[in-house]
Amino acid sequence: MNRIGKKDTTWLLHQGLQELARHRPDKALVILREAVDSIPPACNDELSKALYWLSVALLRLDKRDLAIKSLSSAQKLRRRGFARRLYLRTINEYGMPRQPSPELDDFYAFMNIQMSAYLVKKPMKRFSSYAERETVLKILMDTWKQITAQGLLLDSECGEKLMIFQKIKPSFPEFGFSSPHRRSAVVAFTSAAANSINPSQRCPCGSGLPYSQCCGRVRSVTEL
Ligand SMILES: [Zn+2]
Repeated sequence: MNRIGKKDTTWLLHQGLQELARHRPDKALVILREAVDSIPPACNDELSKALYWLSVALLRLDKRDLAIKSLSSAQKLRRRGFARRLYLRTINEYGMPRQPSPELDDFYAFMNIQMSAYLVKKPMKRFSSYAERETVLKILMDTWKQITAQGLLLDSECGEKLMIFQKIKPSFPEFGFSSPHRRSAVVAFTSAAANSINPSQRCPCGSGLPYSQCCGRVRSVTEL
């Protein structure tokens, strides 16, 4: 390792791929992260390639949320390539890792939207205690049961479901430093732009993908 210059991307990529070939994704991950960091942002093709292989390592380690994040960036940099194909094979309509059933796709989208909206207002974007985490999860599970019991998602398209998931604001008890004013005033964590774009429209970034599968994808709480 010491013999290389810090920025020798080609060498790092090569080493990363070798580790993948040797079934050592954990080692590959470290090296490929270094490779990604060594590439100037302007080198789209090279960056896309490194991000692609980084996502392969992440997928092998079953870190699917982070793999999607990496793939999402890779496919934006290079629209026709491995990254785009793997990305489309891996994601659901929300731009999240595809689950075994459409119901679970909806459930994970709901949970991540709600958890992110909650956590983004917390110090360090974390639960301050185990009790807080359990309470919030229980309230969200109960809310989810109501959503499905009322059939709110039946015959809804992805965009409509996203709207429902973002608009619902369960009332949580106060924990830690969160202020009640901020909590009630903020509509989830979505930006104004996100609200004004139809999720099924093509993404304004020019990727050619629906907004909900590109820049408007539902981010996992692991990306907070
Ligand atoms: Zn986009």
